[in-house]
Parts: sequence; C-alpha cells; structure tokens
Amino acid sequence: VRFHDFHLDNDLMHAIADLGFEYCSPIQGQSLPFALKGRDVVGKAQTGTGKTAAFLTAIIEDLLKHPLEEQRYAGEARALVIAPTRELVMQIAEDAELLCKYTDLQVHTLVGGMDYGKQQRRLNDSLVDILVATPGRLLDFCRNKDVHLDQLEIMVIDEADRMLDMGFIPQVRQIVRQTPRREERQTLFFSATFTDEVHRLVDQWTNNPETIVI
Ligand code: AMP
Repeated sequence: VRFHDFHLDNDLMHAIADLGFEYCSPIQGQSLPFALKGRDVVGKAQTGTGKTAAFLTAIIEDLLKHPLEEQRYAGEARALVIAPTRELVMQIAEDAELLCKYTDLQVHTLVGGMDYGKQQRRLNDSLVDILVATPGRLLDFCRNKDVHLDQLEIMVIDEADRMLDMGFIPQVRQIVRQTPRREERQTLFFSATFTDEVHRLVDQWTNNPETIVI
C-alpha cells in the first residue's frame, strides 16, 4: 500500500513525500483504512514500526477534513497524544511539526521538567490543534484549567504498557475522564505488549476497536 492510495489532503501528502515516505509500513497500511474512517484502532506494535506516522497521519487528515466553524478558546485541544517519556513526546512532536509544515495546524508539547510558565504562555497565545504530552504535566495543566479536553476529537495513547510499568495509569485515567465519552471521540491505542491489565484499559477507553497486530 502507498500513502498515495489513501487520497490524503494535498498539504499532508506533500509533507509525507518530503520525508521520503512512499510505501506504508505494515502498521500504517493496516491501521489507516480504519483510522481514516474514524474507527478506534488498537495496535500491537513496537517502536521502529512507523506507528508514529500512522497515528499522526490519521490525526492530521481528520483535523484538515473537518475545519472548525466555531470560535475556540485558548487551551482547547482538538487532538491529544499521551506518551510516557519526555524523549518520546519530543520525537512525536517533531514528526508532527514536519507533517504539519504546509498546514496551519498548531502543535504543542507539555512535558515535565520544563518551565511551566513558558509552556503556559505558548498555550494561551495560540490555538491547540495537536497536543503531545506526558501524563503528569498534562494533568497539572488540566487542573489549572490551562488546557481543556472537553472538545477533544482524537486521543492517542502511545506505549500503554510502558505507562503501566511507570505507574502513570492513574494520571492517564484522570485525563481520559476529562475528554468526551468514548462514543464521541476517536481513540487510537498502541502498546508493544498486551497483558490482562492492558486489555482492561482497551476495554475501558476504546469503542468497538479494530485490532492490528504487527
Ligand atoms: P516509529 O516506529 O514511529 O518510531 O518510526 C520508525 C522510523 O521509521 C522513523 O524514523 C520514521 O521516520 C520511519 N518511517 C515511518 N514510516 C515510514 C515509511 N512509510 N517509509 C519509510 N520510513 C518510515
């Protein structure tokens, strides 16, 4: 399967071509047909499989296809990616910036260990189309009402098994509670391993998902 076959938005397609991607990796080729239709996807995939480009393509295509008509408020996010570590968040955000470079979509990152005020000012200054964050810092922003997730359209949970191992699930649970009901948002859920605990999270957070195993 090629990216071209999905008839993506021209600005997104152009950015994908600039990255040198022509053929979809297996996780991309198998998840995009469902994700682009708005279905929830559960992907069993390791890093290095191209899962980042898979979920970012789904997010960006969806945001471009459904431009917002109403006025948005500062800190109101349309798409959210939650990942366990600062390094992973930075990598995802970098890929998101590259894929959004021909669009007006704004990418924001929230990670712990960095100046809260600076992240807050940036958020208050612009729209938040795609928010990429670690759970703890994101929850701080939610509690302070600097971020609003009640209008969220797409949520990505990346490396769920690592978030479990790191003890982040209670925080992620509180974050998910602030998003629209699972029937009213799209959820893309990735994990390298599927233990009983991971399966329970899938059951709680996704709605009739398509499962892809790489
Ligand atoms: P990830 O699994 O998301 O960490 O991606 C692994 C690497 O594969 C990244 O360096 C991507 O830039 C690269 N990559 C992702 N999708 C493709 C593709 N369709 N063709 C070529 N390289 C890709």
